[in-house]
Amino acid sequence: MASEAPLAGPFDSAHCVHCGLCVPSCPTFVVTGLESESPRGRVWLLERLAAGDIPADPDAVRYIDDCLDCRACEEVCPAHVPVGHYVERFRAAHPEWLSRGERDTARWVDRFLGSEAGLRAFGAAARFSRTPAGGWMVRQATRLVPGLPTGALDLAQGLPDEQAGGLSRDRIRTRPAGTGDGPVVMQFLGCVMDSVFAATNVRTHDVLRAAGFRVVAPAAQRCCGALSVHTGDPAPARAWAKANIEAFEASEAEAVAVNAAGCGAALKEYPDLLREEGPAWVARAERFARAVRDVSELLEAGSFPVLPPRAETVTMHDACHLAHAQGIRQPPRALLERAGYRLVEMPDADRCCGSAGVYNLTHPEMARALQALKVADIPETADVVATGNPGCQLQIQAGLRRAGRSVPVRHTVDLLWQALADAGRLPEDVREEAGRRGT
Ligand code: SF4
Ligand code: SF4
Repeated sequence: MASEAPLAGPFDSAHCVHCGLCVPSCPTFVVTGLESESPRGRVWLLERLAAGDIPADPDAVRYIDDCLDCRACEEVCPAHVPVGHYVERFRAAHPEWLSRGERDTARWVDRFLGSEAGLRAFGAAARFSRTPAGGWMVRQATRLVPGLPTGALDLAQGLPDEQAGGLSRDRIRTRPAGTGDGPVVMQFLGCVMDSVFAATNVRTHDVLRAAGFRVVAPAAQRCCGALSVHTGDPAPARAWAKANIEAFEASEAEAVAVNAAGCGAALKEYPDLLREEGPAWVARAERFARAVRDVSELLEAGSFPVLPPRAETVTMHDACHLAHAQGIRQPPRALLERAGYRLVEMPDADRCCGSAGVYNLTHPEMARALQALKVADIPETADVVATGNPGCQLQIQAGLRRAGRSVPVRHTVDLLWQALADAGRLPEDVREEAGRRGT
């Protein structure tokens, strides 16, 4: 697909001084050792392509497209060069250079995640694919329907059994918002969290209330749009962003509570996403972005109780979009310790596991290499791996299974919920519900 015209795009590398400080932090450089697979190499390629100095051929573009958008380079860059953003913009400006897998995945993302009906179908398909018959049928379907991501099957096997059944909003709707005069927060339900991780979303509602918050979850909210942006298709993300801002404004909540790192980072970047929609939307997006908090930040600042010591040792994997994009590392660790867990650190806890939105579906080889590195870093003394992002949870669980290790990977909120449950500190309605079920 070589082109004679320069690959111009919304790109300005003027601030890159080519110092190379970012190079060792880049996961794709760690795997390959290649300068062209490093942030500095990608900036150089973008500069040359924009200037028309080198031909736009698959070899050059592939190195740019291999970027995970993990933001590790942005965190260490003294000049604050937004390499991940440049790559996102490149993908949006040049969809002709996306791989077929990326274009097909973008189409499915829009189709499934853009509506409540689509979410229900997505969640049901993920659960069905875990059964032997479902797995066989999905494999046949992937042969007939172009672009259905087969790698998703492997990931779905890592779903905890408890995640079965419906959307989280169905159950959250039946729960009280909370009592007292604590701050009102809007729970952001997400798409994958609402459908595939419904139990974790319901527990997030429980844990926030246990820590003194009153929690609302407006039905009008939509997907955050992160997956669309990552796959070079920001148009649906803009429409969903406006719906989310309107839902927040109507809720009169003080903050937006988010339990998926990728969603949190995307919501905080709405001002940039809505830049072309005019100053009024940018101002609303800025107010919204200032209110967005990862659930661990809210709980740490709220009144999450100190609970009795527990037997389990937990190791924390820092999701890229929590650690690098939002600078959040300590709150989940502090909370787990408050909940009674012992912590053991893994090396390079904030190096990408290869999940990266839908990267593990569109770039399976690089994702598999990063998954193997992550699994090798998980200490033998850890009873459980905690993380604050659903994609990382599935990716690391699949890697552990492949390595023959039976260590479970859990969302941080699930571990906090279990500690509250064991200490009898969940909200009364949740305890009564558990009593009725005999759990
Ligand atoms: S992106 Fe930043 S850290 Fe990397 S080479 Fe350029 S200036 Fe240096
Ligand atoms: S965003 Fe991540 S993968 Fe992309 S260049 Fe930066 S460190 Fe490398």
